[in-house]
Amino acid sequence: MFIAANWKMNLDKFSIEEFSNIIQSHIFNEQIKTCIFPPNVYISHLKKLIGNLPIFVGGQNCHFETQGAFTGEVSSSSLKDIGCKYVILGHSERRTHNNESNLYVQKCVSSAINSNLIPIICVGESLKDREKGRALDFISNQINKSLPMSFKNIIIAYEPIWSIGTGKIPSKIEITEMHQHIKEMIFSNYNKNIEVLYGGSVNSLNVCDILLIDNVDGLLIGGASLNAKDFLAIYSSTVKHLSNYSFKN
Ligand code: PEP
Repeated sequence: MFIAANWKMNLDKFSIEEFSNIIQSHIFNEQIKTCIFPPNVYISHLKKLIGNLPIFVGGQNCHFETQGAFTGEVSSSSLKDIGCKYVILGHSERRTHNNESNLYVQKCVSSAINSNLIPIICVGESLKDREKGRALDFISNQINKSLPMSFKNIIIAYEPIWSIGTGKIPSKIEITEMHQHIKEMIFSNYNKNIEVLYGGSVNSLNVCDILLIDNVDGLLIGGASLNAKDFLAIYSSTVKHLSNYSFKN
């Protein structure tokens, strides 16, 4: 089970310290892989503050080149250098605001893999594509074009664009179907079993229902991860879910 907290362009030095102080007293479970993705400038700060906890830090993006004249960009090698393990790539906000195409995302994924980072590749359809019954085809195309020819380890985050920050969540059937579709696609094209995270309006109230959905291997959380208490509430629900699940199996 994986919990990814995408802070986007939020929080400052002081609020990150407050967040870290609150989570220090919590008991973390090594069975849950947890990674926080702060703004790039705070990665080292957060890493120092929570270095004693079993929580990774990651980058919210990286460039496809490892160095060079790319003002304002961050490379996969520098993320690795400062201790990141994961990087989010192809988030819908970057696809929209920074015009990142599938091909661009694919180049960034290759760069991340070459730097020994594990990419979390975001895919998600618009509401129009969902309503027109084109969601599965849209995601197939995004995955086919955003993934490199080969890889050892990647994670896909299914984040319907219409669900991000809106409070709207796809139905249980829609999430099950999409996650199964993504897993089957990757298995038939690459002969690999991968983790598929769900992202979009996850919060402490709906987390239990989402975790119960078949084929959901974890969560990518935006807004609700900014507040330490909400983050811990989601974390605790995930621990409870895991212990119920292992009890039943
Ligand atoms: C996101 O942007 O990755 C996300 C899932 O946001 P939120 O949880 O706020 O919908």
